[in-house]
Amino acid sequence: MRITRVRLIELHGELDHDGELWEERVVRPIDVYPEHKHERGYPIASGGVGQERNARGAYPISSIFVSVETDEGVSGLAGTIDRQTAFVIDTDVAPLVIGEDPLAIERIWDKLYRQLIHARKGQPMFAISALDVALWDLKGKWLNQPVYRLLGGPVRETIPAYASMLGYSLEPDRVTSRAREVVGAGFTATKWFMRHGPDDGEPGARANVELARTVRKAVGDDVEVMLDAWNSWNARYAIDMAHRMAEYRPRWIEEPVKPDDIPAYARIRSASPVPIAGGEHEYTRWGTRDYMRAGAVDVFQPDTMWAGGISELMKMATICSVYDVPIVFHGSSVPVNVHISAALPPTLCPYVEYLIKWNDIRQLHLKHKVQPTNGRIAPSNAPGLGLDIDESTIADRRELSWR
Ligand SMILES: [Mg+2]
Repeated sequence: MRITRVRLIELHGELDHDGELWEERVVRPIDVYPEHKHERGYPIASGGVGQERNARGAYPISSIFVSVETDEGVSGLAGTIDRQTAFVIDTDVAPLVIGEDPLAIERIWDKLYRQLIHARKGQPMFAISALDVALWDLKGKWLNQPVYRLLGGPVRETIPAYASMLGYSLEPDRVTSRAREVVGAGFTATKWFMRHGPDDGEPGARANVELARTVRKAVGDDVEVMLDAWNSWNARYAIDMAHRMAEYRPRWIEEPVKPDDIPAYARIRSASPVPIAGGEHEYTRWGTRDYMRAGAVDVFQPDTMWAGGISELMKMATICSVYDVPIVFHGSSVPVNVHISAALPPTLCPYVEYLIKWNDIRQLHLKHKVQPTNGRIAPSNAPGLGLDIDESTIADRRELSWR
C-alpha cells in the first residue's frame, strides 16, 4: 500500500450557542501592553471561530482536516488544524510522504523530523503531529481496529474527564452556578482560568485568589479544582499565588510562566505548596526530557496535535512514567486523546481534559461526538479514530492548496 495523496479540506459550518460564546478569556503574556490588555472575545488564535454572529444568529465556524489517501482506497483523517499547519503539510510534508507505505508510521515520522529541521517546536511540529494522527487513523481502518487497541489498550474502558472552563464568565455568581452545573453533570474535577497577572497589582492578585476561593466553595471538598495562568505570571508572583491559594487545595496551578523558562518552573515547584503543571506548549521526547530532568512539573500536559502526534506522545508518556510524573494531554483533540489515554495506566494518565466550548467548536463537524457521560469519557470503538464527518453540518467546503 502506498500514499497517493494528502488533501487539506476546509469545512464551513455554524455553531448555535445561547448567549455570548466567549464571555471572558484567560490572561495572556501580551496583556502587559495596554493596547492588548482589554481585548475581548478570543484573541489568542482565531481557531476558525467567528467573533460575531451571522445573520441567523449562529457563530460561523471553519475547520480544516487533513486526509491521507492510498492506492488501496483506505484513508486516514486528522483535525482540526489551523491554516499555518495546513500550509506546512501541503508544501513540506505532502511531497515527502507521497509513495510511502502508510503503515510504516515510525519511518515517516523520522523522515519528516529529519527533513523539517525547524519542526522541533511550533507549527511545523503541528504538521508532523497531524500527519501522524491521520496515519494512525488509517492504520486502524486498514486493520479494522480502534486505535486504542493498536496502542496496547484498553487499560480501562473509560477515563475521568475534567471540565475546563475557558471562555466562561468569571463573575462570582456565574462561576458558582457553572461550577455547580459541571459537578451536577458528574465531573469530579474542573479547571478555571486566571484573568490577572503581576502587572495588575494587588487588586488583580486578590481577584485571582477570589476565583480559586469561589470555585472551591461552589464545588465542595470532594471535587478537584485546577487553575491555569497561561504562561502569564513570573516565578515570584506564582509562588505568592500558590501560597495564597493553598488553603483552597488546587489540584494544580498550570503554566505559571513561559514554557521556555524551565529553571523558573523548577524554582516555583520547589517553593510551592500547590502542585505545578505545564508542558502544553512543549514538544517531543526531547522537550519532555528537559522538563523531567529539571524536575519542572508535577503534571506534564503535551498536546497530541501539537507535540508530535500519537507516536511521539506515547514516547513522551514513557519518559514521564520513568520520572513518576502523570501526563494529562492538553485538550485540543479529545477524540484522539481518549485513544491514547485508554492505552495508558490510570496512575500515569489520570484525566482527559475536556474544554467545554472548544469541543463544541472542534467537534462541530464530527458525526460521533466524543463527550463525557457522568464525568467519564470513552474512546470510539469504530476502526481507526472514529472521526467521521457529518455531512449535514457542512454549509460549504473547499480544498486548500498552495502548490
Ligand atoms: Mg492550559
